[in-house]
Amino acid sequence: MRLSFLGGAGEVTGSCTLVETGDARFLVDCGMFQGGHEAWAKNLSALDFDLRRLDFVLLTHAHIDHSGLLPRLAALGYGGPIHATKTTAELLEVMLLDSAHLQEKEAEWRSRHRDARRQHPMTPLYTVPQARACLAQLHPAAYETEFHPHPGVSCTFHDAGHILGSAIMDMRVRTPSGTRRLVFSGDLGQGAGGMLPAPTRIGSADALLVESTYGDRLHKASEETQHELVQAIGGTLARGNVVIPSFAVGRTQAVLYALADLARTGRLPPLRVFIDSPMAEKATLITRAHLELLSPPMRDLDAWMRRNPAELQLRYTHDVADSMALNQIRSGAVIISASGMCDAGRIKHHLRWNLPRRECAVLITGFQAQGTLGRRLVDGARTVRIFNDDIAVRAQLHTIGGLSAHADRNDAHAIA
Ligand SMILES: [Zn+2]
Repeated sequence: MRLSFLGGAGEVTGSCTLVETGDARFLVDCGMFQGGHEAWAKNLSALDFDLRRLDFVLLTHAHIDHSGLLPRLAALGYGGPIHATKTTAELLEVMLLDSAHLQEKEAEWRSRHRDARRQHPMTPLYTVPQARACLAQLHPAAYETEFHPHPGVSCTFHDAGHILGSAIMDMRVRTPSGTRRLVFSGDLGQGAGGMLPAPTRIGSADALLVESTYGDRLHKASEETQHELVQAIGGTLARGNVVIPSFAVGRTQAVLYALADLARTGRLPPLRVFIDSPMAEKATLITRAHLELLSPPMRDLDAWMRRNPAELQLRYTHDVADSMALNQIRSGAVIISASGMCDAGRIKHHLRWNLPRRECAVLITGFQAQGTLGRRLVDGARTVRIFNDDIAVRAQLHTIGGLSAHADRNDAHAIA
């Protein structure tokens, strides 16, 4: 049996392992390289092997650094099944289409900037139709249910507690020297107390491949984080708004539940929360449709939210007009929007309107990379440029530590 690490080893992103058992040939994950100048080139040259001879693909979870090159794999000629949990398949529909959209935009941008020297436009890594085609290759499987992706391979998904739908893959593979037990952890959650249950415990294995031990499972906010949120939000809403830039999948839901918990215990007044990001809305709806996958305290909290809609009024803004209407609200609104690093998406509009007002607050909940608008805010810029306007920064800026735990890892693979 041979394992080749095509990405991931020594890399922060781009997890992809080729397994050759002598009988079957398959991939575990097919992640995208993200961040840094070389990412584009690395993604273009990844998957440089005979992928038509692959029998199947298995996926540990939906994060882009584990799934982001699947549409490219399919576009390059892989037509076989991609096995993932049911919830991962649901999340992929949101994330891969969004990723394809970003790829198209990046290719467009690169084409514009190279036009002077080259005639040919850059082709995207993959397009939205290619991502859609790849989704048709998904074979969803339930947790704790053995399936056979190949006559010589059986596999069971166990809950990894990392993000919704994440799986530890427990496999038995036939090799020339007998049957071997192979376990892939993907990213793992961190144990009890969080939004998702602790990872399933696995007994012995012939080979155990652990991705990392610091996954970004959604934490119940610590006492310190709760205190920071109360300080930042409590005094603000009477006179201004609270704007929270947030990654759509994982972080937005962690923020939402942290706020709900504070409203339930009365430490914050009844809240009006707007989620203004189509991807965050979809990810939140998928999360709330799978309460069975959350930890028991989070399930209780969600049930409380449903029973007490006036305590946390949750609204999603569907179109751009709804989003722009938020700009008319002078006080009392909590606006959660993407992108998490403030450099794209609807969040820029909310910052443009709320940053100049000292009655407002901006809460930073995640890692802000060099060169992003979010980073300039964290670094204390007095004015920032948004849509070609110089915007004065007078709003109160708060960095909420507990919600950005493991941020360097998290945010590398949370695109929006
Ligand atoms: Zn992950």
